[in-house]
Amino acid sequence: MTQTVPSSRATVHGYPRQGAQRQLKKAIESYWAGRSDADALLRTARELRLQNLAELRDAGIDEVPSNYFSFYDHVLDTAVLFGAVPERHLAAVPDATTPAGQLDRYFAMARGTAEAPPLEMTKWFDTNYHYLVPELGPDTTFTLDASKPLAEFAEAFAEGVTTRPVLVGPVTFLLLAKDPTGTEGFRPLDLLDQLVPLYAELLGKLHEAGAEWVQIDEPALVTDQPADVLAKVAETYARLAAAPARPKILVATYFDRLGDALPVLAKAPVEGLALDFTGDAAANLDALASVGGLGDKRLVAGVVNGRNIWAADLTAALSTLGTLLGLAGSVDVAASCSLLHVPYDVTLESDLDTEIAGWLSFARQKLEEIVTLRRGLTEGHAAISNVLHVNQSRLASRAASPIVKVPAVRERVAAVTAADLRRTSAYGTRAKAQHERLNLPQLPTTTIGSFPQTQELRKARAEVRSGKIDQAAYQEAMRAEIRSVIAEQEKIGLDVLVHGEPERNDMVQYFGEQLTGFLATQHGWVQSYGTRYVRPPLIVGDVSRPAPMTVEWSTYAQSQTERPVKGMLTGPVTMLAWSFVRDDQPEGDTARQVALALRDEVVDLEAAGISVIQVDEPALRETLPLRTADRAAYLEWAVASFQLATAGVRDDTQVHTHMCYAEFGDVLQAIVDMDADVISLEAARSNMAIVDGLAQAGYPNEAGPGVWDIHSPRVPSVEEIVGHLSVATAAFPAERLWVNPDCGLKTRGYPEVRATLTNLVEATGQLRSRA
Ligand code: GLN
Ligand code: ZN
Repeated sequence: MTQTVPSSRATVHGYPRQGAQRQLKKAIESYWAGRSDADALLRTARELRLQNLAELRDAGIDEVPSNYFSFYDHVLDTAVLFGAVPERHLAAVPDATTPAGQLDRYFAMARGTAEAPPLEMTKWFDTNYHYLVPELGPDTTFTLDASKPLAEFAEAFAEGVTTRPVLVGPVTFLLLAKDPTGTEGFRPLDLLDQLVPLYAELLGKLHEAGAEWVQIDEPALVTDQPADVLAKVAETYARLAAAPARPKILVATYFDRLGDALPVLAKAPVEGLALDFTGDAAANLDALASVGGLGDKRLVAGVVNGRNIWAADLTAALSTLGTLLGLAGSVDVAASCSLLHVPYDVTLESDLDTEIAGWLSFARQKLEEIVTLRRGLTEGHAAISNVLHVNQSRLASRAASPIVKVPAVRERVAAVTAADLRRTSAYGTRAKAQHERLNLPQLPTTTIGSFPQTQELRKARAEVRSGKIDQAAYQEAMRAEIRSVIAEQEKIGLDVLVHGEPERNDMVQYFGEQLTGFLATQHGWVQSYGTRYVRPPLIVGDVSRPAPMTVEWSTYAQSQTERPVKGMLTGPVTMLAWSFVRDDQPEGDTARQVALALRDEVVDLEAAGISVIQVDEPALRETLPLRTADRAAYLEWAVASFQLATAGVRDDTQVHTHMCYAEFGDVLQAIVDMDADVISLEAARSNMAIVDGLAQAGYPNEAGPGVWDIHSPRVPSVEEIVGHLSVATAAFPAERLWVNPDCGLKTRGYPEVRATLTNLVEATGQLRSRA
């Protein structure tokens, strides 16, 4: 007999904002291009919100959220909600009294204007979604403009639905903000006293409008927070709870376990908590029991993973829910986080094998899972026995599938030894062999891999896909591009050349399409930032490499020049980070499979005469777990998989790696341990600060701190590059320094690339002659 719980409800924290055909993206971009006006954009947005409302309601979601919609980003919305608009954006769009003015100022903050650079953008916790970083200083004065949450609440209310407005919480908002001027002794969290009364005022307005519950998101509490911050959390929620007239407060956290913040929130005088119970956050269950539960508070239980694409194990989720029943006043069923992070609908994938489709769950399918679980709780398991049955047979088909577990792959991984992770000789010996073979000048110059992705290249890729041109014509188009990229580099005078990556749509997708175990989707779009969407591949099964992936392009490029051309691959950590990864084995196991596939490619490149091979790991830093306690274990498999991918080559083959877009402080030791012969890193925007870090960490190999910030079309002068290089050579031995840009050049245009690389070679020449 299962206990039934009549009061349990089904809910979600948020839903994809853009519509099944990414209509919002199209409407916004058309507005930006001046092809439609503000009214048209607002109309499309409203239609999409109402469509979502109907969809959630029709799916059986009992409590529907509102204010999860955004034209660009919910953190940016929060900055606007509290009037945290930088001066430069106020000046760029002085009149925001009209709908168009309001949108333009908002988009100015997001994208910048000719005079006013945008807010900085960074990753939303450990997801692949990016938010805009609010700029707050000691002089910031918040002002409340509640129009967006109120309008979105009223819009649904008029349809007969009392929604639960979702807000980014005050502590998270301030912890994610930064002071662009770096005022000594100030941190944005110091503004909490000023901000909390405005949240209270907002709660009053929502209450007045008829809201019964409000959801306040505090995901920052799943990262390690010191005691003084936790004390502020307690104080903040005590103050909000004391607001004279307000909806009930549901504080939501997700992406990991709450740790020390759990007892704080459990004690807070709020009416409910939403917690994640998936993955590492499953630790919340024991933690909840050890604080004696939530008393009569409402618990919104995130038992359906909101950020992976796998069908939930409904039986296991029901058992978790059953345990939770004893630990709270009421238990509602939800996804662990907003469904923003998953694609929209599996049933749109018409090319997908039906058996595999049954293993997957995108946003729409997750709604069904949540509603089913709610029924299981309220009506008893028997009421959903058919669904449970189907679910179990799908999980069983996945577990038993020959594409999921491939004995040959497993045997190979099991046979990996410690020796496979080590190069034959230490760096010193290798460096000697490589320097003899490559015979490069001091301060060798190179680039990171890609050259500008021109319209013609995209066109050729699209045409071969659609069958408009045949494989031979496509190959010739790519070869022509490679010839021209090689000729450009020779003319500029670079030392180690690249083929330019013209054949790659995306550095992960390109390899995913050629490896077994990876699956591409047709419509699996997820928001990366603003109107930028990505379609991550799914890693569904054991990974192997049926045939060489890059050897032909690399050897063709090498045949066109006497200078070394770098082979160019994407590393195991990055392959995982930018895919949806299988959840039925540790990530480290999946990474090792990818590593072995790459190892084959590395060895084949070497055998084909390629003397320098780069394995990019730009995602190594961003994949670092949110909790410090989990980092060592992650770095261990991350480093081991890189080593496994690259250690199969001879001493005289030079292995490069590349990382970008991040602070390196937390991963310096990992960089040392990876033991690449050469690493290129982003450094230009921080004026080579990384070089000190490398020197202090005793990094023994070669490094190329980037001297050109490729995020900007600006062409750095020879003097500027000489300046960067002087800083670098002052801190790090010139014998081990390389000269290169921060990152690949695919987003740049040829005029800037030619001008900058010419300056880079000239600046390097000046330094060489000083030596
Ligand atoms: N080799 C890749 C390129 O140049 C690296 C891209 C990256 O670091 N994100 O495009
Ligand atoms: Zn990069």
